[in-house]
Amino acid sequence: MINSERISNEFAQQTAIDSPSFKEAAMADYLRQRFAQLGATLVEDRAADQIGSQSNNLIFRIAGTKPGKPLLLSAHMDTVGPAEGVEPVLIDGVFRSAGNTILGADDKAGIAEIIEALEVLAEQEIAHVPLEVAITVCEEVGLLGAKHLDFSLLNAKRGIALDTTGISDVIHKAPAANRFKVKIIGQEAHAGVIPENGISSIQIAAKAISRMQLGRIDEETTANIGIIKGGQATNIIPRQTILEGEIRSHNPDKLQELTRQIIALIEEEVETARISVDGTEIKASMSLDLHEEYPSMHVDKQAEILQLITGAAEAINFPLHIKAAGGGSDANILNAHGIQCVILGTGMNKVHSVEEEVRVEDMVQIARLLVEIIRCA
Ligand SMILES: [Zn+2]
Repeated sequence: MINSERISNEFAQQTAIDSPSFKEAAMADYLRQRFAQLGATLVEDRAADQIGSQSNNLIFRIAGTKPGKPLLLSAHMDTVGPAEGVEPVLIDGVFRSAGNTILGADDKAGIAEIIEALEVLAEQEIAHVPLEVAITVCEEVGLLGAKHLDFSLLNAKRGIALDTTGISDVIHKAPAANRFKVKIIGQEAHAGVIPENGISSIQIAAKAISRMQLGRIDEETTANIGIIKGGQATNIIPRQTILEGEIRSHNPDKLQELTRQIIALIEEEVETARISVDGTEIKASMSLDLHEEYPSMHVDKQAEILQLITGAAEAINFPLHIKAAGGGSDANILNAHGIQCVILGTGMNKVHSVEEEVRVEDMVQIARLLVEIIRCA
């Protein structure tokens, strides 16, 4: 039923088009033309101008051939770097890049699988409900495309994002994340001559960090300080230190509480760092840039979309495991906008590295599962 040569060629063609985040124009052109061949109509939002990308998010609509609630399929067209001159190489049924770039199976394996499923639906005249395919830009840079997607253009209230590794996982749960950047300002002074007149911003940061709970906090919560920058020379008491970190949790209350605690520790250490120079009190200070990176998602195991997927998988003896993810993706944003959406594996592996790979046979299997899901939807 699935045409392994066609999906293989489709994938090779897509990955040979470079599409790092913000530079998706060529890929968007290819997709417009490819989906037109499949009889889809296109609507675009206005994300490009809003986020400074070359392309909008593309939404393709395929008319239903039977009545029913529309189903959304989603994937992203951008890739991480290095992605200049990607050359897909197929050896023994496995695609890899020629070596110096990523492959872009993340997420072009997903797009190729969607296209193959649509080819098969038409070829076999399989009756299906109306389909919407949302292909976003700038997923890899903070889900920017999805965050600026014009949701009034989507009718579906249930969907599947094709965007996780392996082929047997269905992600129904993913954490929310907060990200912060704190700038600590101390007081500069010559470290050897008059250290009494200085307040070390590095020391304030160190004291605060040493009191923080970091790493895995519990089974659903993590925290990390990922960047620390400060100081100019060994003989200068450092005036400015920047700390950047993140907190993730599947539980929104824990996320807010841990974020509050971590920021409070920095505030306390800044507050106690004060000196007196010639009768004048000098205090440290700080500025905080805190934002919600993405909201959490949690699709109930009894939810209709999961019943649909597990039912279709059982019908074709496809082993699936329902799991939680450790990070956010477009699906977090789709769920936050009222679309019940889970994430399917695409067969891609070792993503975000030059060793990235995908087996053609795994793409074939996922396309087969997709056809069955759409047939049952
Ligand atoms: Zn991805």
